Amino acid sequence: MILNSPPWPEDARCAVAFTFDMDADSILHLAHHGTADTRVAAMSALRYGPEVAVPRIVNLYREFGMRQTFFLPAWCIEHYPTAVETILADGHEIAHHNYLHEHANELPPELERRWFERSVEVIKRATGQAPRGYRAGFPATRWIFCWTTAFAMTPLCSAMTCRT
Ligand SMILES: [Zn+2]
Repeated sequence: MILNSPPWPEDARCAVAFTFDMDADSILHLAHHGTADTRVAAMSALRYGPEVAVPRIVNLYREFGMRQTFFLPAWCIEHYPTAVETILADGHEIAHHNYLHEHANELPPELERRWFERSVEVIKRATGQAPRGYRAGFPATRWIFCWTTAFAMTPLCSAMTCRT
């Protein structure tokens, strides 16, 4: 029991955030650049997300009147416009999930920044606004996230503490 819990609307006792990654075959292209398209079995399984799962999830959420945040690598936004339209049509949020689900902390800082900013631009074009959320493609990023975020996602950055 949390003794100092914040007040929730309508006397709710807690809040829950549902989020969903739509990574699709971005990770296959990341791991097997140049041969990903020949890996048919893996490609088929990974395309299940945007082609089958997203419409089902959106329909289910519509039944319950719920919205959520979908975290998409920007590459997926470019390659799965129908899934993006499905997500946005029901008022769900699309947030930043790197460009190709890359290990951002393993890139040289300038390259990390370039891919981060490119992803922000892809999201802006698709949604009409800068992303308000970020989830690292792999659970690691470095300090550069803070200052790139300052330019790209000001509302989120104001609530963050930078680690250097
Ligand atoms: Zn992911």
